[in-house]
Amino acid sequence: MQRLWRLLTPRFVVPSIYAIRWDDLRDLGVRGLVLDLDNTLARRDQPLPDETLRRWLDEARQQGFSACILSNNLEHRVQLFAQACGVPAVHAATKPRRRAFLRALQTIGVEPAQAAVIGDQIFTDVLGGNRLGMVTVLVTPLPGKEFVGTRLVRLVERWVLRHLARRGALRS
Ligand SMILES: [Mg+2]
Repeated sequence: MQRLWRLLTPRFVVPSIYAIRWDDLRDLGVRGLVLDLDNTLARRDQPLPDETLRRWLDEARQQGFSACILSNNLEHRVQLFAQACGVPAVHAATKPRRRAFLRALQTIGVEPAQAAVIGDQIFTDVLGGNRLGMVTVLVTPLPGKEFVGTRLVRLVERWVLRHLARRGALRS
């Protein structure tokens, strides 16, 4: 049980990708970023990156980080978005399974311990990243319509977050 909670605990909790401090990641030895797409980089209904996101990705590059998008969404959505961002992507990822994380890491040529996964879902992004010993960053999901199934998962996620907060396990 203890182990399960640890696997569900993000290393950092931030309101958005723009609140991530590069130094925090660098201090932990992070060189690579594995980025969730939907509700993390952009709303589900936003087909292309906006100017703010492009600037953030440029900044990440200038700061010495390599990035790869890792999404459970389908090829068309993911590759269109990633190409416009100028970063590689792995689609249909079946997170939290490890295989796709490893493929993303291989793409950018970093070991799991040197990579941060940044995403909005505990049971896919955080769980998958923690299983591989990656640094995990949970962001507040961007607003927008979600599937019924996802809305249900959000309820459970909020319960998990409350539990973790009570245990003092959350850092921002
Ligand atoms: Mg997401």
